[in-house]
Amino acid sequence: MAGFLQEAQDLMPQLVNWRRDFHRHPELGFEEVRTAGIVARHLHDLGLEVTQGIGRTGVVAILEGSRPGPTVMLRFDMDALPIVEANQTDYISHNPGVMHACGHDGHTAIGLGVSTLLTRHRAELAGRVKFVFQPAEEGLGGALAMINDGALESPRPDVAFGLHLWNTLPVGRAIVQAGRLMAASDKFILRVRGRGGHGALPHETIDTVVVGAHLVIALQTIVSRNVDPAQTAVLTIGKFQAGQAYNIIAETAEMVGGFRSFKADVRQTMIERIEAVTRGVASTFGATGEVEWLSIAPPVVNDDKATAHIATVAEDILGAENVTGGGPLMVSEDMAEFLQRVPGCFFFIGSMNEERGLKYPHHNPHFDFDEKALPLGLAIMCEATAQKLR
Ligand SMILES: [Zn+2]
Ligand SMILES: [Zn+2]
Repeated sequence: MAGFLQEAQDLMPQLVNWRRDFHRHPELGFEEVRTAGIVARHLHDLGLEVTQGIGRTGVVAILEGSRPGPTVMLRFDMDALPIVEANQTDYISHNPGVMHACGHDGHTAIGLGVSTLLTRHRAELAGRVKFVFQPAEEGLGGALAMINDGALESPRPDVAFGLHLWNTLPVGRAIVQAGRLMAASDKFILRVRGRGGHGALPHETIDTVVVGAHLVIALQTIVSRNVDPAQTAVLTIGKFQAGQAYNIIAETAEMVGGFRSFKADVRQTMIERIEAVTRGVASTFGATGEVEWLSIAPPVVNDDKATAHIATVAEDILGAENVTGGGPLMVSEDMAEFLQRVPGCFFFIGSMNEERGLKYPHHNPHFDFDEKALPLGLAIMCEATAQKLR
């Protein structure tokens, strides 16, 4: 068992080089051209069969073992965020306004490390490893884009693993949780249509600002009055636009919001009630209301068997006392798209180091993590894969 951990620790200088290079050169979702190029060249140099342009900037590679066996898929995301970095390290972003503030630079470095070590052990593997380097995880649909381009076909994976560095968890620890881990995310646009007119002649109009104001309040009763209090959901209207001037009654109003949920029946209740409340409130005032839906991600649901496997491996590498359950969390991850189709496990690797000030949350302009997490995540991924392919 110490084998992969030792090899991963030996790879530390290379891991740090990769990670800091990606950190200096962050790229937004579907624009990961430089990153994907480095990934593809590395995988090609290892002698793997590499395909680029899966889901626009995604990269898929196959490592064939020496004997027949199952296919293990390993997923790593590569995109950065539109954030101005506020750190003062010698590896800060050289791309103004773009920053690796979620740790995907670390995930990509781990992926390069995993491919290096597993290729070294190719002769011991029965089956194959499918490396999936995904673009555009941050709400842009990169996982689905890769799936639509055939990332899960020929060969179809039997199990899928993915990880996320986690900056509220101290380095050296992991959260491995069976079942529901992260919420489903749905976005909606509400359009209210009334009749515009003069601000002093409201009786000749249908005022969509008044309708919209009632609607925002009414929508907030869905979680409190329609969802089972023992279940979980959250709804937010993040944007409300209507009107042009003080003396003009607005003909239309548009609201953009979102909700998070875990269970399919709760999600269905939310969808049905948002539709009904929108139409009902609008018609009360003589207006019409319609809803446009955008599913951002399904919930991340881990397979029991795959999770038990990861937990055992993580306990051996980190110590049993450092591996716990956790969640569920109301944030979302589009690894969910893969886990809806292939049984697997998505888990969190602690990357916080309070003493060194590496404690800022994900998506914060001060985000940075303890690179000691890199070889730990790498060792768990290698060991979990090698054990599946024995
Ligand atoms: Zn993120
Ligand atoms: Zn992330």
